[in-house]
Amino acid sequence: GPEYVRAIAPYQAGKPIAEVAREYGLDEANIVKLASNENPFGIPESSRAAMLEAAADLGRYPDANGFELKTALAKRYDVPLEWLTLGNGSNDILEIAAHAFVQKGEAVVYSQYSFAVYALATQGVGGRAIVVPAVDYGHDLDAMAAAIDADTRLVYVANPNNPTGTFIPAAQIEAFLQKVPARVIVVLDEAYNEYLAPEHQFESSAWVRKYPNLIVSRTFSKAYGLAGLRVGFAIAQPAVTDLMNRIRQPFNVNSLAQAAAVAALNDTPFLDQGARNNADGYRQMIAAFDELGLEYVPSFGNFVLVRVGDDDGAGARVNVALLKQGVIVRPVGNYGLPQWLRISIGLPQENAAFIEALKKALG
Ligand code: PMP
Repeated sequence: GPEYVRAIAPYQAGKPIAEVAREYGLDEANIVKLASNENPFGIPESSRAAMLEAAADLGRYPDANGFELKTALAKRYDVPLEWLTLGNGSNDILEIAAHAFVQKGEAVVYSQYSFAVYALATQGVGGRAIVVPAVDYGHDLDAMAAAIDADTRLVYVANPNNPTGTFIPAAQIEAFLQKVPARVIVVLDEAYNEYLAPEHQFESSAWVRKYPNLIVSRTFSKAYGLAGLRVGFAIAQPAVTDLMNRIRQPFNVNSLAQAAAVAALNDTPFLDQGARNNADGYRQMIAAFDELGLEYVPSFGNFVLVRVGDDDGAGARVNVALLKQGVIVRPVGNYGLPQWLRISIGLPQENAAFIEALKKALG
């Protein structure tokens, strides 16, 4: 195989509950998983009902163009259907963008400590990564704009960012978009957008109207609670969307996922409940970190990055101590953050179980 494929370090997903139960001799029912930024409420009831109905038609292929879902999204974001691309999770969107716009040897710009899939998508097409040093664990957009060279085809920006939870205000994003040459595609990855407080929300689809090189990426995996179904989508102008739709798999979003996403999209009570729980849970987490004197990065997502020790073994060591107590979180050594752990915000009792286990783990 190509050398650039052999150089890829595989994505490290959160450990599954069943695996941890077996490995540490624990009862699955007692395990708390706060490792993958999943929605602690699970799938919305409205989506469950829609899936049951859609199940009757599983002998057929999914709608290759996702007509109903795109229609619902078009209405919600006030864009034509031709501006939408569906993905098998937004992960798929990130990869489709690389496939559609980057050739072997061309460059992709992204930030240090930004989402791991940017590196994977870049390497997957034999692209050259330009990794721009972070500032305060977040994107340095001025440096990222300056890093764009003649070979650069794509820039990934995560807002909020995973795993650090940092957020870039609207004015800074817009200033950045104005600096990026029109020949360079910007993927604005807004996987955690729905967790932002109203004062931080902005109409990113309005920017798509203004910037023909912008792709806004969203997901149903987080606030909408459909991580297991794999649905994401992109909003971009038709010329860009057309290319993405040529390169994507024809049936990349399955029938159950399409039906569930339509239902979830308009389930405002579910979203509101999730946002409230997340805000409360975040306060619960950082109160504990303050009490324990632990440094954390202020987060705008449904997770928080906390520094659990001063030595480079700290993250791995505390992670194992938590696993032994049945709490699964995410070590981020692969991001170059070996002293830190990323904790997803769960239900109040899950957060409490984590905090108790953390206190024991730290001795
Ligand atoms: N972008 C960011 C910043 C993420 O954290 C994630 C999930 N970890 C994704 C995209 C991809 O999520 P999904 O494929 O489930 O939409």
